[in-house]
Amino acid sequence: MAAGMDGMRASGVTVETDVAVIGAGPVGLFAVFQCGMLRMRCVVVDALDAIGGQCAALYPEKPIFDIPAHPEIEGGALIHKLEAQAAPFTPLYLLGRRVETLRELDGEWQLGTSAGDTIKARAVILAAGAGAFGPNRPPLEGLPGYEASGAVRYLVARREDFRGKRVVIAGGGDSAVDWALSLKEVAAHVTVVHRRPKFRAAPESSARLDAAAARGEVEMAIPYQLHGLEGDGSRLTGVVLSTLKGEQKAVPADHLLAFYGLSMELGPIAHWGLGLSHSHVAVAPATCETSLPGIHAIGDIATYPGKLKLILQGFSEAAMAAHAIHPRVFPGEALHFEYSTSKGVPAG
Ligand SMILES: Cc1cc2nc3c(=O)[nH]c(=O)nc-3n(C[C@H](O)[C@H](O)[C@H](O)COP(=O)(O)OP(=O)(O)OC[C@H]3O[C@@H](n4cnc5c(N)ncnc54)[C@H](O)[C@@H]3O)c2cc1C
Repeated sequence: MAAGMDGMRASGVTVETDVAVIGAGPVGLFAVFQCGMLRMRCVVVDALDAIGGQCAALYPEKPIFDIPAHPEIEGGALIHKLEAQAAPFTPLYLLGRRVETLRELDGEWQLGTSAGDTIKARAVILAAGAGAFGPNRPPLEGLPGYEASGAVRYLVARREDFRGKRVVIAGGGDSAVDWALSLKEVAAHVTVVHRRPKFRAAPESSARLDAAAARGEVEMAIPYQLHGLEGDGSRLTGVVLSTLKGEQKAVPADHLLAFYGLSMELGPIAHWGLGLSHSHVAVAPATCETSLPGIHAIGDIATYPGKLKLILQGFSEAAMAAHAIHPRVFPGEALHFEYSTSKGVPAG
């Protein structure tokens, strides 16, 4: 395995590992540490471009008060510490891709991702929370064709893609405001669409956007919302906007950037035969094993009598799952329970 290629974004990766971890939230990250302590290598896949799950995506600056030994720690800081704790074991992170398929192959598991990767693993730890994070999509006719061509996007990977282009930016939060301010420097024209004059963005950024609009550098379409897309189904030529009263106007555009936040959806996990109930996977409490041998579920997605959806409980499940998986990875090898103080941190 190509170990230690942190945050890898290449697609079409083929890799073999001991344990495939689905989800790089706090619980998935701690599972990497626990597996590493038992000399099991991990590949971690997440739909998001960054590790951290809910902590990083939803509340990076909010303090958490119930992490043992941290009277107070922000979501983002907790993730940094978990990443550092897992780092000695050089996990391979495959980010920005969703695990789509899971099938048994010769007593092992083979995972396929939306980026065309194939991961073969002796065991799987499903730490998928409430599902894969993805953008909230506007309900517009013909959207998939424009998404596929890159005309409609939900994030900016390269500012240069928008040089000389007419860009419509929809949304009222920090992403919409910050990208409007940034892209006005390279785009031919930027229109910001929002339902109301007030933005949910940092006040100084909102003030800078107002000033840019006053100078004519950005066009504000307020109070408007997205109504439709114009083009040939792939190449975008315009975006139709409407007010709540139904007044419409069309804005010429090459790109639509929709920043309506993130949502989580279980998506393909529901079809893996795990017997989901209310979006949760029932596990055996002592091992976190699901109804499929070698597939262990931990963290928010796992349920059993007495389950609390807390990070600290997910940490303990990670330890139990790793110990339960050990005999699959090292058949016939006795596993003697040891404290970390006794054995230290084995090299990855
Ligand atoms: C505002 C807020 C405050 C909170 N405060 C606290 C608190 O004070 N204390 C506490 O203990 N808990 C708190 N929580 C809950 C806590 O964040 C969750 O319990 C925790 O994040 C669960 O961790 P996890 O690793 O199981 O899942 P998540 O953090 O949900 O991570 C799951 C990851 O899996 C990925 N994923 C899912 N499916 C796939 C797939 N098919 N392919 C690829 N990737 C996939 C997702 O993209 C996601 O990144 C809070 C939650 C919120 C929203």
